Amino acid sequence: MTREDCAALDAADPLAHCRAHFLLPDGVIYLDGNSLGPLPREVPGRLDEIVRTQWGRDLISSWNTHDWIGAPLRVGGKIARLVGAAVNEVLAADTVSINIFKLICAALAMRPGRRVIVSESGNFPTDLYMMQGLRGLIPDIELRIVARDEVTAALDDTVALLLLSHVHYKTSERWNMTELTHAAHAVGALTLWDLSHSTGAVRLALNAAGADFAVGCGYKFLNGGPGAPGFLFVAARHQGEVQNPLSGWLGHAAPFDFKDEYQPAPGLRRMMCSSPSIIALGTLEAALQAWQDIDPTAIEHKSGRLGDVFIATVEEACAGYGLTLAVPREASRRGAHVAFAHQDGYRIMQALISRGVIGDFRAPDLLRFGLAPLTTRFVDAFDAAWVLAYILGNRTYDQPQFAVRALVT
Ligand SMILES: *Cc1c(COP(=O)(O)O)cnc(C)c1O
Repeated sequence: MTREDCAALDAADPLAHCRAHFLLPDGVIYLDGNSLGPLPREVPGRLDEIVRTQWGRDLISSWNTHDWIGAPLRVGGKIARLVGAAVNEVLAADTVSINIFKLICAALAMRPGRRVIVSESGNFPTDLYMMQGLRGLIPDIELRIVARDEVTAALDDTVALLLLSHVHYKTSERWNMTELTHAAHAVGALTLWDLSHSTGAVRLALNAAGADFAVGCGYKFLNGGPGAPGFLFVAARHQGEVQNPLSGWLGHAAPFDFKDEYQPAPGLRRMMCSSPSIIALGTLEAALQAWQDIDPTAIEHKSGRLGDVFIATVEEACAGYGLTLAVPREASRRGAHVAFAHQDGYRIMQALISRGVIGDFRAPDLLRFGLAPLTTRFVDAFDAAWVLAYILGNRTYDQPQFAVRALVT
């Protein structure tokens, strides 16, 4: 693979024009869009409009006149196509962790008599921690957390819910959503998919897979800004039945009737709790502009090819330097990030960042590179691999400043 080969792939890339939607600093190869998506060009102007005009001039009337009150469902509707859902099945609200909590409770209530939740050991910590917190409230629930290859065998007729991350945050391994959903349904269990590392990275088909519930992240591949709202999916067939344990006033059927008794809204709006954060939702909505008209198949294809090119170039450029591929080689079994293990991973990543190649480090030893399909060029993947080879070959990562640990890695 030569740089010319990569330039030819860029020239033929149907998503190449998407990069122009973003304000990326010069001299940087940004391979961390899986942790914090870069700034979309549309955002600063939209924020200015929301703050100065909608808030500053129109004040409280904006809840109606600028449809602030409808923002969670409107923004959710713009995410729906990317996850293979209908527009009325996705709500943009709260965070991934909070949405996990709400949907686990909802699932347990829909499977009375069953008290087992199955998940994967090594799942993203918040998914496990939220379950552990819930066990403090409902002591008789059993968390059956098993190794990846034991998940299917752990399903039986005591299981209420199967909760999995569709793409693993470290190993990039991708579950077959259809197969696992069918396996869960075969024993009468429900499914909750965490799509944090999948949305905007690979092709998703929640309804085609028969999924029940899902959650996802606004600040990763969707580029909704630091701490952006998350989203949740409830299949249409469950929307009349789900109960929100965080039964706040905006999930009420008629919030402005101010009744004493909670009565859930008829549709997905019942999964809301509080007043939506309009500035954050407005940022996410502006960011979603870049995804309009994007074909999910093109996303899937580009992420896969970028990963192939990056893996092949790193293995060629860095041969003999002690890196081990830590993700599946086969593109259809990966997400849009690639990771390599190295015992000096932290210091190597700091040295890379100092040379303008921004990835991240995941303990204990992973160098992680997000290959976001809208912003990453094939030449970026190629160049990043050769900068990595330079750092490994010259051991520049031995310099003491690279050993200093920051709080966020
Ligand atoms: C990033 C990520 C989250 C984020 O959770 P927040 O509560 O929104 O901070 C959750 N789950 C997974 C798998 C993630 O990758």
